[in-house]
Amino acid sequence: MLCSSCKKNVYLTAMGICKDCGGLTTSMSYEICEACSEKEHVCQVCRKKIAQ
Ligand SMILES: [Zn+2]
Ligand SMILES: [Zn+2]
Repeated sequence: MLCSSCKKNVYLTAMGICKDCGGLTTSMSYEICEACSEKEHVCQVCRKKIAQ
């Protein structure tokens, strides 16, 4: 998931690597994968906490 400010940006759809688990991310601009983002409740790009 992305925070409100990162949601406004457009990202390349080339696959990247999650810096937490080594799994695939949907964009090279993402630091972490969807699963890690959901688990930690942080933005995939800037890793800011996302309120539920
Ligand atoms: Zn991950
Ligand atoms: Zn963000």
